[in-house]
Amino acid sequence: MTDQRWVYSFEDINDALEMYKGDWKKVTGLLGGKGANLARMCSIGITVPSGFTISTECCNKYLELENEFPEGMWDQALVALKKVEENTGKKIGDKKNPLLVSCRSGAAQSMPGMMDTVLNIGLNDETAKAMVALTNDERFVYDSYRRLVQGFGAIVLGIDDEKFEHPLGNYKKEKGFKFDNELKADNWKEVLELYNKVIMEEKGMKFPQDPMEQIKMSIKAVFSSWNVPRAIQYRERTGIPHTLGTAVNLQTMVFGNMGEEHSGTGVAFTRNPSNGKKEIFGEFLFNAQGEDVVAGIRNALPISALNDKLPKCYEQFIQECAKLENYFKEMQDVEFTIEQGKLYFLQTRNAKRTAVSRFKTMFDMVEEGLIDKKTAIKRISSDDVDMMLHPQFDPNVLKLAQKQGKLFATGVAASPGAAVGKMYFSSKKCVEMAKEGPVIMCRPFTKPDDVDGMFASKGLFTAEGGATSHAAVVARQFGIPCVVGCNVLIDEEKKTVTINGITLNEGDWVSIDGTTGSIYSAKIPTIQVKLEEQKHFMSILQWCDEFCAKEGIRDIKNGPSRGLMVWANADTAEDATRARSFGAQGIGLCRTEHQFLGDRAGILREFILTEDKDKKKEALDKLEVLQTKDFEELFIAMTDLPVVVRLIDPPLHEFLPDLLELTREVYELRGKGEKNEEKELMLKKAEQMHESNPMLGLRGVRLSIVLRQLVAMQTTAITQGAINAKKKGFNPVPEIMIPLVGHPNELKEIQPEVEEVSQNLLKKNNVEIEIKIGTMIEIPRACLVAPQLTKYAKFFSFGTNDLTQMTFGYSRDDAESGFLLKYVEDDILPRNPFKSVDQIGVGRLIKMCVDEGRESQPMMDIGVCGEHGGDPKSIKFFSQAGLTYVSCSAYRVPVARLSACHAILD
Ligand code: PEP
Ligand code: MG
Repeated sequence: MTDQRWVYSFEDINDALEMYKGDWKKVTGLLGGKGANLARMCSIGITVPSGFTISTECCNKYLELENEFPEGMWDQALVALKKVEENTGKKIGDKKNPLLVSCRSGAAQSMPGMMDTVLNIGLNDETAKAMVALTNDERFVYDSYRRLVQGFGAIVLGIDDEKFEHPLGNYKKEKGFKFDNELKADNWKEVLELYNKVIMEEKGMKFPQDPMEQIKMSIKAVFSSWNVPRAIQYRERTGIPHTLGTAVNLQTMVFGNMGEEHSGTGVAFTRNPSNGKKEIFGEFLFNAQGEDVVAGIRNALPISALNDKLPKCYEQFIQECAKLENYFKEMQDVEFTIEQGKLYFLQTRNAKRTAVSRFKTMFDMVEEGLIDKKTAIKRISSDDVDMMLHPQFDPNVLKLAQKQGKLFATGVAASPGAAVGKMYFSSKKCVEMAKEGPVIMCRPFTKPDDVDGMFASKGLFTAEGGATSHAAVVARQFGIPCVVGCNVLIDEEKKTVTINGITLNEGDWVSIDGTTGSIYSAKIPTIQVKLEEQKHFMSILQWCDEFCAKEGIRDIKNGPSRGLMVWANADTAEDATRARSFGAQGIGLCRTEHQFLGDRAGILREFILTEDKDKKKEALDKLEVLQTKDFEELFIAMTDLPVVVRLIDPPLHEFLPDLLELTREVYELRGKGEKNEEKELMLKKAEQMHESNPMLGLRGVRLSIVLRQLVAMQTTAITQGAINAKKKGFNPVPEIMIPLVGHPNELKEIQPEVEEVSQNLLKKNNVEIEIKIGTMIEIPRACLVAPQLTKYAKFFSFGTNDLTQMTFGYSRDDAESGFLLKYVEDDILPRNPFKSVDQIGVGRLIKMCVDEGRESQPMMDIGVCGEHGGDPKSIKFFSQAGLTYVSCSAYRVPVARLSACHAILD
């Protein structure tokens, strides 16, 4: 294998490109991001300091050989080094004109600051003298030399950096210096001696004077830095595979610290990274090197300062930035140095930017003809969309809070966005205190009774529950930042919350980040963009819809095809209006039970518990009036678009009084010798209805079958709501959905009744409205009998929350705060199946159901309305499975529109 190519000069990019048949991605994999970009800059005539790259393959081989260079590599490096010497007219170790080089890591995917760099390699006692003669700047040379010894000592020899910083600090104190730039040449010489001593004391060796030895050892150290713990952790966090390896770039040093007049260093973005404006945005420092600009020790100047002092360099810089953007067809983030009037680009990469800037730059580049719409869409991530929708913490204050150790707890990131407020422990208190300022709600878990408090709060966190718990679902629906399952200990009596020995009290300021699942014991201000002002955001999502629509027959009238539509889960007109403004093309799930919150819960409870027929009827009538109005408003808000209303679904116990509390109340009364008939009866009924496994009990279609009057009442309210909307000139498109069906006979029992009630009402009102009746698919058995279900159901909608729960046999309310996280951590499961659909198991059921269902009813709409409908990974799967739409909470609609488009562009 001696002929394996390990080393590529920057000029040799075509060799690598040929080898990979023009595939830049593979070339980048081989040479790392930095190496590939340096070579690409070189190929378009941008001045980069001469150098070469040792490939990532070589790194892997080196690690495999237990820290030995593979055969042939060193010889190839020597040849490449010779080329650098020819290009620069300098020679390694030369006593007159020595070549100095840097040795930098460069992985295929950026891992900022994770791996190592050694600068000024080639300096020794002799070459330092030569450099002094050349530059006439002794101070600069000995500062550079001591930087090499320090960097080499720390990175190559593994000496703790403190061992160098400490003597330098003492030296400065002794001499009365505050800043490094106050030290003169002689001072640096003395520091150099101190550093040499450190190396001798720590390693029992001298700093190697042989430049070739310095190069060899530095390359080895950089290769090895691929596996330092912080790099491993970073890869684990960001999902970068450990097998990629890092390339090493050996490159001629250029110096920006060769005087105040004609030398300096800077960093710049080719467009504004905050707002995306087309203008060079950057900073420059005269007489400075390397990290000086970013380190912020000295105040950097705006890039225009360069124009005042070095107009030619400035002009060249502007032109070359444009050239880079034109070539990479993407906004660039560059580092550059001017050495005695000569401009060098040291690095270029695709620029990181805010979401606002991302949308504007992508939109503008399409307008400018630089990229096409597909490319623009592919470069936008769901995180970018999320950041536009939800408030974010001020990044500077957040950093400070993190540094100060203010991270209080972490949990499941249940509803994205940042929120800050004073913390309270009950719904009532939150409502009360919200009048005085922003509040954050903290609960063990939430129930329908807590909803008022949730609405009054800027955000909430719970000790228990997972991503599909009540708190999570409601928070997502209303865009309230939320973290659940934090495992904190809440003492509702003392009004404290404790974790890891730290206790917070009622009224303390907390900040929660529902995007990352973090809770801070600090007041961190938030920033929010105004969406209606974001025309670039709106336009790009419109492009996404157009791509999805173009991919075949893509609207409800024409039936299913490849691209997905995005509908929303919404229960109220307000919610639906928001979803529509975010681009929802229908409502895929109206959870009617959410209309029974607050005061209405009492009416429903009365209906369930009372034995008195009149009272039962009275309660039902009250609910019918309220629901009719709800539906009318909903249909008006969604005129022309489908609205899928689900019949009542949740386990009955959610509407019953808490059994323990009721028992205590009754026994207390009995103890006082009082007997309250109503309460006694309620207790009896509640005891009768109590279930050991409510999630597997009286819920879904079973409720409709047992509490029969509810079906007629709800169907009447839906139909009447639609009639009212139609009479007001709107175009309602109602659909009625029967939940939690496992056997076709359940549908056979309920569907005809729904049909009859609605048709009679329509006839009576002399109004024609098509009302489709369909079913949710939430029980594995339903997937297995799909063709039989199509006899009664005109559409299917996967309730993937329940389908996941029942396929795995995991309780969706408990698993995520219990064993499930451990399962994911220990790789027993690849990911949380409540967040991202389990494609192998649950997905197989879905595919089977879609295929077999469509055999009977080829044009039927099949959607998803579980939480997975807003998850990008799951959306890709649903798109491939041939679904018609995904339905998710309003705030996920834009993310889903982007993901649906990504799914067909990939
Ligand atoms: C589901 O189960 O996926 C669903 C949407 O219904 P719910 O979450 O209301 O049970
Ligand atoms: Mg369900």
